Amino acid sequence: MPQAPIYLDNAATSWPKPPAVARAMCDFLDHHAGNPGRGGHRLAREAAATVERARSALAGLINAPCPKRVVLTHGCTDSVNLAIHGVIRGAMRGANGSKPHAVMTTIEHNAVLRTLSCYAKDGLIDVTTIPCDPQGRVDPDAFAHAVTDRTVLACLSHASNALGTIQDVDAAIRKVRARNPETLVLVDAAQTVGHMPVDVQALDIDLLAIAGHKGLRGPTGTGALYVSDRAYPDECSRSRVFCERRGGTGAVAPGLDMPTELPDALEAGTCNAVGLAGLLAAIEARDPETNRREHDHEIALTARLLEGLCSIRNITIYGLPCTRSRTPVVLFNLAGIPARELAAGLDAEEDIAVRGGVHCAPLVHETIGTAPQGAVRASPGPTTTEDQIDHFLRIIDQAANYPPGATG
Ligand code: PMP
Repeated sequence: MPQAPIYLDNAATSWPKPPAVARAMCDFLDHHAGNPGRGGHRLAREAAATVERARSALAGLINAPCPKRVVLTHGCTDSVNLAIHGVIRGAMRGANGSKPHAVMTTIEHNAVLRTLSCYAKDGLIDVTTIPCDPQGRVDPDAFAHAVTDRTVLACLSHASNALGTIQDVDAAIRKVRARNPETLVLVDAAQTVGHMPVDVQALDIDLLAIAGHKGLRGPTGTGALYVSDRAYPDECSRSRVFCERRGGTGAVAPGLDMPTELPDALEAGTCNAVGLAGLLAAIEARDPETNRREHDHEIALTARLLEGLCSIRNITIYGLPCTRSRTPVVLFNLAGIPARELAAGLDAEEDIAVRGGVHCAPLVHETIGTAPQGAVRASPGPTTTEDQIDHFLRIIDQAANYPPGATG
């Protein structure tokens, strides 16, 4: 029997998924796969019930005040796009002559960087980019200080997908509120939801972008955007999120207008119901005790990776030197072997999955001096074993001692 791959790319998408995920998806396709919300027959009703259970489960997980504030999306990029386009378009429509302003940081993923930049490039908004330090930390004071009376949106990644550094979003949001209570804060939680508790009410988050396929261990093509009352009040006419996506929602709406109620106002078209059935199963398979155990296991493996890599010659490790305030991610380079080459070699020769390159976070790599080649990211998951980490470290040690082209 072929050996199982050593999968160290959980920051891209978690694998393997809990067995309940595939079972739930097959069961959904075989028995309940009508079009959710469209049609009153049993299969459509059952599909709708599954989707609403997934919405409620997500709402419970992040302590949303009600499920309707969880808008279902196709992934975190989709959530970020919905939030940024929505707020910026909303601000441009309501602008009283002044140009909207947004804040982001160098730690952001391309989902945020590219989406905001397209407005800035066209001169439609001003954007201030706050630098992170080489460990990937953003100073909450500097972040908030960039907020002015024109700032409609401030974006902060909860944890860096490249370095694993977790930001102090609590302090950052409190300071933003003190500067301008009207500024909406978007938190990109692709790397944290599922790995650590995220309470949108306690943190006073306006918009939380979630991936269903990473820490939550659901299938790809699933995600959500939490929308606060400040961003989209129950009195819908004061909504600050303008949605350009139009289409059928299943709900009755007057004439050619979209419904104004959440979540329908921001959800058009048939959703990924089979994916949501899988995500629901993944969330239901979780309990606080298992979560804690898995988290401790992943962090112990991260410490083992850090320690092991530190003792290998010619290795540079980036980011925080310890596992505090960090997700299970380690970023490194081996002198003399470009990151993508090393990752490709590990894949081809050892069936080890890591990601080499810039991880859709080009400004992080500029900050740590690894652009444009990037670095190698290893991200263990709950099913990764100590033996797998030790095997990985042995292979890296061999590559360090006998690099390609070495003689003797
Ligand atoms: N933001 C961050 C911080 C991420 O790590 C990722 C995924 N690499 C995304 C956004 C995009 O998420 P998705 O793959 O679900 O579109």
